[in-house]
Amino acid sequence: MLPGKLVEMTPESRAPRVADEAVLITPLGGTLIDLMMTPDELAEVGARAGELSSLRIPSTAAADLALLGSGAYSPMTGFLGRADYESVVSRAELTDGTPWTLPITLPAGDPASPPQEGAVVALRDESDRLLGVLTVQEVFERDLDAEAREVYRTNDTAHPGVAALFAQGTTTIAGPVRVAPTPAEEFPTTPAETRAAFAERGWSTVVGFQTRNPVHRAHEYLTKVALEQVDGLLLHPLSGATKGDDVPFEVRMECYRVLLDRYYPTNRVVLGLFPGAMRYAGPREAIYHGLVRRNYGCSHFIIGRDAAGVGNYYGSYDAQVLFDELGGAERLGFAAYKFEHSFYCRGCEEMASTKTCPHGADERVILSGTRVRELLTRGEEIPHEFTRPEVAEILRAAYAAPATPVAS
Ligand SMILES: [Zn+2]
Repeated sequence: MLPGKLVEMTPESRAPRVADEAVLITPLGGTLIDLMMTPDELAEVGARAGELSSLRIPSTAAADLALLGSGAYSPMTGFLGRADYESVVSRAELTDGTPWTLPITLPAGDPASPPQEGAVVALRDESDRLLGVLTVQEVFERDLDAEAREVYRTNDTAHPGVAALFAQGTTTIAGPVRVAPTPAEEFPTTPAETRAAFAERGWSTVVGFQTRNPVHRAHEYLTKVALEQVDGLLLHPLSGATKGDDVPFEVRMECYRVLLDRYYPTNRVVLGLFPGAMRYAGPREAIYHGLVRRNYGCSHFIIGRDAAGVGNYYGSYDAQVLFDELGGAERLGFAAYKFEHSFYCRGCEEMASTKTCPHGADERVILSGTRVRELLTRGEEIPHEFTRPEVAEILRAAYAAPATPVAS
């Protein structure tokens, strides 16, 4: 199932690229987990549908279930029990010592009647579609306040991730899962698919770039600086739930496609989908994004300023600092490209960053997300130094069309 030959790779021991043999980074735990149900299992669940209890799970848990199924959460085989949960919350690692920064848990729904231990529960989405099954190993109570403080570094319910956490309730079910297959997407979505795509191209070193926004020139610059050092780039937009004021997924995909077509060499980039949901947990989530991308086959991961955060809850470099605190590349298994704020500078006449440009703010073309939305809403031009004209055009059309509302 795993493409190519997988060997452990640290930045120190990275083998030189071998043309015919992709030597990709190993997943966490050494083996890519596959929890997808076979046709026989699916048929059996269908036949037993009447006797199995059902649990409708929220969209974040549904995204986690899909990621468990594809091995994106290797070495996990199900939703975390109390010991692993507490270990992740307080020490950012599973009980076996595997680094892991976000607790992957399943809220029990109606706490008056949680499923019994040993029961097999059919997990369904809001429209009752079967997503998978869970064998209940444990039912336990979470300390949500402690989880918020450790994982989100705040228990302020104005933080969207913290608000979502408190809304889940404390009763939690844990146990191994099997996951119903979903139709194949147009773009690689599972670690097996991206690894196959990398192997096909003969890549050994791949940098992952997580994004939930259109790629403007600042991020194009970061990915290209990284590309100077490695074999390939995985542009990995998140396709799960984001905040209402983020640009809709379909619009973003159009932007990525046109940008890659016009401004990147086709044989150096794979556009994939990351079917995860945002929690906005800042540093913890940025490291989670890197760990998951290691499972997708990325030896490197871009950690920019203000990664995975929201509002003013996190310092600009907290995620880069946490990467080092958790043991860096040696322990986490992937190397980080830590970047400064970047922009087009009229003084330098090129893309630059606060590390490389000596000029002042008046020479630098920097627009906040709010300012970009303002310009789009009024149908005004976005400077070409800020975003490629083809990308600006797609955004303008999306903001103008009533059929694709963009909340503000
Ligand atoms: Zn400059």
